[in-house]
Amino acid sequence: MKPKVTRLQIAARGLANRCPNCGGRALFVPGRPFTLRPVCGECGLVLERDEGGFLGAMSLNYGVTVCLILLPILLAYLFGWIGGATAAVAAGVGAVLFPVLFYRSSRSWWLMNYYLVLPQHLPANQRRLAADEDANT
Ligand SMILES: [Zn+2]
Repeated sequence: MKPKVTRLQIAARGLANRCPNCGGRALFVPGRPFTLRPVCGECGLVLERDEGGFLGAMSLNYGVTVCLILLPILLAYLFGWIGGATAAVAAGVGAVLFPVLFYRSSRSWWLMNYYLVLPQHLPANQRRLAADEDANT
């Protein structure tokens, strides 16, 4: 059976910080940009799946910060394009500022990763299972 929400739609919605289930923009509490809602404000999809759910997003945020900010600064320093003091200041500022700016996307991208692997877990894609059928297949 073809899912109602495809992996391509899940990726597009996740990259745009939208709900993977309905595509709505209600992932975060209005007026509180760093507070993820426990459930989507439009369709009720559970966003806070468990207490440690933020750890995956935090790891993703760390990895993107290293790859997009710290590694280029290190390479620029090693190739002699910038000095040591400049590299140290840029790395320090980048390592603090970028994760804050990327926080919302990291939460959304982590949620996207989960549903890219298990798209059948989206409420929009669920159907009645046969007696001998497993929901994880
Ligand atoms: Zn939703």
